[in-house]
Amino acid sequence: MKTYGDLSPSLRTIMTPGPVEVDPRVLRAMSYPILGQFDPEFTGLMNQTMEMLRSLFVTDNQWAFPVDGTSRSGIEAVLTSLIEPGDTVFVPVYGRFGYLLMEIAERCGAEVSFIEKEWGSVFDPEEVIRHLRQHRPKIAAMVHGETSTGCMQPLKEIGEACRELDILLVVDAVATIGGTPVETDEWKLDAVMGGTQKCLSVPSGLAPITYNDRVEAKVLRRKRIERGLRDPKLAAAPSREPAGLVIRSNYFDLAQLQDYWSPARLNHHTEATSMLYALREGLRILLEEGLEARFARHRQCEQALTAGIQAMGLPLYGNPACKLPVVTCIPVPDGVDGESVRSMLLEDFGIEIASSFGPLKGKIWRIGTMGFSARKKNVLHVLGALEAVLIRHGVSVARGEGVQAALDVYRNGKEASYA
Ligand SMILES: *Cc1c(COP(=O)(O)O)cnc(C)c1O
Repeated sequence: MKTYGDLSPSLRTIMTPGPVEVDPRVLRAMSYPILGQFDPEFTGLMNQTMEMLRSLFVTDNQWAFPVDGTSRSGIEAVLTSLIEPGDTVFVPVYGRFGYLLMEIAERCGAEVSFIEKEWGSVFDPEEVIRHLRQHRPKIAAMVHGETSTGCMQPLKEIGEACRELDILLVVDAVATIGGTPVETDEWKLDAVMGGTQKCLSVPSGLAPITYNDRVEAKVLRRKRIERGLRDPKLAAAPSREPAGLVIRSNYFDLAQLQDYWSPARLNHHTEATSMLYALREGLRILLEEGLEARFARHRQCEQALTAGIQAMGLPLYGNPACKLPVVTCIPVPDGVDGESVRSMLLEDFGIEIASSFGPLKGKIWRIGTMGFSARKKNVLHVLGALEAVLIRHGVSVARGEGVQAALDVYRNGKEASYA
């Protein structure tokens, strides 16, 4: 009989834009015993998680809960529940994840329009607002932090314009939530989708979302109750809702999901118990550190990393005015095999960094400084290793300068403490 060895994954230094290293306390939380999903002890943990998510999203919204699935499940839940076939949806695209929003909106039957910015920069908010005024879509969907290009789109003015024009603004904040400010209420964002495996440093598998009563009103108009849960006399009767109106997904139906997360606890899916423990612990750690301190730690790691890279003599990719603070992109020097550099980092130093997609495939490396991975030790380690590997690949770098420049940033600034 074939046998298999014990599971023993290597301890890596993960410096990608996700998944990133997970705080040991979160891993421990995942090993606790299972509770039933309607056990008051467990529903108590669900309620605390919702409360902590409201702090994370900086919102007074009633609804803030995780969707079970990877980050795109949150995106899909919001778009599927909002978009009726024929609805007009506008997507300003400045990287790969903008295309994901477009694709999902198209699958929902939306009439999608888009404008695209050259990768490596973002929109002047006025450009987006001009389009909104002219075309008056029902929904606008945008990415806050584009992990594919390392750029971040300012959203406040766009949010204000959308509110004034009565357009629903839906934002993918998967990469930014927990690493750099995302002000749901202040920026007038109607729905925000986050991720766990990036700056929250929780494994992939849940997608925290929040949405306001403007979104809820539309979702409730499309509400349908599962046949078996209706009055038995009505269970066999055909559904009376017009076909176009009904939310096409059961799993991603926000009307049902919010009933499940409400005090009514109407049965829907089985909550992913261990993942909920992990998210609750990740959020507890985040609030214990404090949002401001956490953002400062991410900024400091970014400053140390970028100072180190530039001191080595390497340029950064993208417009610095809109740089995403949690992802740093570096053009692969001419004549260098970017994948060979990444392999050597992994094999000899146990460090993982990322390549990119689409038009940037093989052209840039992406280094994440996110969540539990955003630590001084990791930043210094990646800089030292990158220098050694680049020298092996025949790139002339200023020897020793990278780590020294990063050390200067940590020495001169007040070191943001962690854990
Ligand atoms: C990572 C990421 C996603 C997709 O997340 P999954 O967890 O892989 O589904 C979506 N949007 C952005 C901006 C991301 O960085």
